[in-house]
Amino acid sequence: MRRLFEADAYKPQPGNYWATTRPKSDWPTLENDGQTEVAIIGGGFTGLNAALALAEHGVAATVLEAETPGFGASGRNGGFCCQGGALLESEALRKRFGAEEADLWAQAENAAIDHVAGLLETHGINADTHSNGEICLAHSKSAARRMAKKPGFIPPVALKEQGLGGPWLGGSRTPKGFALNPQKYHDGLARAAFGAGAKLFARSPVTALSQSGGKWRLQTPHGTITADKVILATNGYSSEDIPSWLRSRTMPVQSSVIVTRPIKAEEQDAAGWTSDMMAYDSRALLHYFRLMPNGRFLFGMRGGLRATPRAQRAISRKIRKDFRALFPAWRDIEIEYEWSGLVCLMASLVPFIGPVPEQSGLFAALGYHGNGVAFGSFAGRLIAHQLMDKDPKTPAPMFLRTPPGRFPFGMHRRHLLRPAYLAADLLDL
Ligand SMILES: Cc1cc2nc3c(=O)[nH]c(=O)nc-3n(C[C@H](O)[C@H](O)[C@H](O)COP(=O)(O)OP(=O)(O)OC[C@H]3O[C@@H](n4cnc5c(N)ncnc54)[C@H](O)[C@@H]3O)c2cc1C
Repeated sequence: MRRLFEADAYKPQPGNYWATTRPKSDWPTLENDGQTEVAIIGGGFTGLNAALALAEHGVAATVLEAETPGFGASGRNGGFCCQGGALLESEALRKRFGAEEADLWAQAENAAIDHVAGLLETHGINADTHSNGEICLAHSKSAARRMAKKPGFIPPVALKEQGLGGPWLGGSRTPKGFALNPQKYHDGLARAAFGAGAKLFARSPVTALSQSGGKWRLQTPHGTITADKVILATNGYSSEDIPSWLRSRTMPVQSSVIVTRPIKAEEQDAAGWTSDMMAYDSRALLHYFRLMPNGRFLFGMRGGLRATPRAQRAISRKIRKDFRALFPAWRDIEIEYEWSGLVCLMASLVPFIGPVPEQSGLFAALGYHGNGVAFGSFAGRLIAHQLMDKDPKTPAPMFLRTPPGRFPFGMHRRHLLRPAYLAADLLDL
């Protein structure tokens, strides 16, 4: 498998807090040859949601995960089950795709959150949920001015009263969304998919994908699966060559997270942050954070441009510095966990959920721009419905089916991020 980042980006992360909260279930390794109707490459939220939807319709589905369950972003994220998935704001979507499509997108974002809430309830998944909606906090005067022009602006005094104290110059709450423990959601989802009849394999990387006689062959180190159809659900962990259509079509980008020790009530009071509301700031390269039900504080931001030990050390210093600047009262609170993972950007700035052109029976769902807890889950179900040619009875704009173009500069395309980060940093001043 040819991939864009250094090898460290594709290794397990010993500092991942979620791994410590994970139930001990595992999936077997594929050890024999087999057949299935639909093979799914990648066992994160997208792959598992696709598998569950297919299995619930009586379609034989087999998930092939290269590593352990929840190895990718689905087991590493901040747990914000929230709106998002595209890099375009609603006005830009409206300009590019028209009002109807933009409205469908907004409906889909909300439907995605409802979809995850429904899964947790239907399958009795306890994922430590909290937070009624989410809040955006103004980091600058101009951001506060923009926010204040819209209804629902919360001035700094009111933020403090709500236990959201800090350097913010105002806030704006979105009533939709909630926070969850992603690994517990992932595990419950896997149990649901397995219970519905899907087959799940871990440590079974697809090392070659080919088609002949109308069938797909997915080769793994110890067994080969033959399938009628294939879904690519590899998002930020996609390779450049499996299949070759993927070459340069995704831009994996690192995001980093720290988690503190449990913060005592009096320490929370000292910082003025006692709310369980999930929050992010108004920077282009935003910080996201939330006080979890057990008192630990999760804080995340963009990761390094490279995954070398040196770059990792630099981002480790930067995330601590930013955390302490925003929450000075907690500068001595121990940070017990720290990890990074890959999200996926597309040149089109919107996700792709549809058939891969000129490859009959090959489908893909990927590119959630760092917001795939809700939208990746939705996308998994949507791609399964597309593949079965069934109406999912949920809104979905047609632009999601437009195949993404390639990024320029091939294996050097990560260099595009450096000026983009610099420009965003300048905008954020
Ligand atoms: C640090 C971080 C914080 C984030 N925070 C949030 C958040 O708070 N809210 C939010 O909405 N989103 C967040 N995201 C994004 C979100 O986690 C992802 O969009 C979502 O999990 C994507 O799910 P997925 O199933 O498509 O991909 P992944 O979960 O990344 O799964 C892809 C899987 O494909 C496997 N794979 C790749 N190639 C092969 C192969 N050849 N054979 C077999 N398997 C293969 C990989 O091993 C991987 O497990 C965050 C991401 C990161 C990294």
